[in-house]
Amino acid sequence: MFGSSGIRGVANTEITPQFALDFGLAVGSIYPEVMIGRDPRVSGQMIESAVVSGLLSAGSKVVKTGMVPTPTLALASKEYGCGIMITASHNPARYIGMKVFKNGMSFTTKEQKEIEEILRTEKFSYASWEKTGSLSQTDNALECHCEVILKNTRRAGLRVVADCGNGAASVITPYVLRKMGCEVIMLNSQPDGTFPGREPEPVEENLSMLKSTVRATGADVGIAHDGDADRMMAVDNKGRFVNGDKMLAFFAMREAKKAIAIPVDSSRVIDDLLGKIHISRTKVGDVYVAEELKKIDGEFGGEPSGAWIFPKISLCPDGIYAAAHLVEIISQEGEFGELLDTIPDYPVKRGAFPCQDRIKAMAKISKKLEVLGKVNTLDGVRVDTEDGWILVRPSGTEPKIRITVESKNKCAELFDMASDIVKGGIK
Ligand code: MG
Repeated sequence: MFGSSGIRGVANTEITPQFALDFGLAVGSIYPEVMIGRDPRVSGQMIESAVVSGLLSAGSKVVKTGMVPTPTLALASKEYGCGIMITASHNPARYIGMKVFKNGMSFTTKEQKEIEEILRTEKFSYASWEKTGSLSQTDNALECHCEVILKNTRRAGLRVVADCGNGAASVITPYVLRKMGCEVIMLNSQPDGTFPGREPEPVEENLSMLKSTVRATGADVGIAHDGDADRMMAVDNKGRFVNGDKMLAFFAMREAKKAIAIPVDSSRVIDDLLGKIHISRTKVGDVYVAEELKKIDGEFGGEPSGAWIFPKISLCPDGIYAAAHLVEIISQEGEFGELLDTIPDYPVKRGAFPCQDRIKAMAKISKKLEVLGKVNTLDGVRVDTEDGWILVRPSGTEPKIRITVESKNKCAELFDMASDIVKGGIK
């Protein structure tokens, strides 16, 4: 039921009010106090109302924050023990879903399983009539989040283009950047759950307007968020989209003191740049990065998708703090494009092969990969060789096996070799 980042589906067909009611009942059966927020999606209020009913039915004390970004909700919900965010993150407008937090961090796999078990067995704890829950509303979650960010960033007098994608960031990112001293040019920064400006995912193909606006206005940097603003991606002062691995390296170089956590599909450029810093590689998904950061007491974690975790602020990826911090760094160190050009690009090649029996194929493929070099089997099989690395993973959602290869000089050769091994395994 829970994916790597909460529950998600099309509103009113996959995620119905009936389901949301049961979900609220299940969470309320365990947690006596819950804070709930939502992004601006059209179906958000419908699903939120049903979840709230379920929570109240189980006897929970519920506090609504209204429309806020996910990191704002995660931070504010710390004092309530549990937080629920009604969002489908970077998915298109027709989707809706829930992300759940405990003490400010995404539910662990174990905590998710507890909820799934109650939903499966329908062992809901209905409260007796006099113990049904209470509902109230707070207005200061945004203000608290702003305060935390501003307390942790220095002033910066840059010109910034902020593309909030009509998502939840619209109500906070331009405000925070202005408070820091920036001149802010806003793009798609009116909350609108139909996402009329662009698709919510901050990938290059959705950001052509941001790139051209940065160029046209001579801005120092462009910022883009996804629908619930846990993600942040950037465009440099030359109007170039900064790819995820480069952004990850950019932050990691500056934040890492002893230890960081990054997923198994991230570039080796990090290892080459960070030298003696301990690098934990995790399964793909920001939840796993956060869990690992907590375990190793790391200073930074992130995913090339645009989820950046700064544990001194929060263990929830925070796109708004990431934007403020990026602006701060540029203001201190100089032109963004030049700073980026000091980070090398390692060529990457990706592919996918149709495969029905992924488990059987992966067993055969693993055996062949294991002899090539140092192996990591946390999420699929990653093998590090002298020339680069190969990652082979069964797709979680489709009958396919995916290959990622990265190599400074031998990308094509490594990719061909990996393809042959995967084709052999599928046969
Ligand atoms: Mg998101």
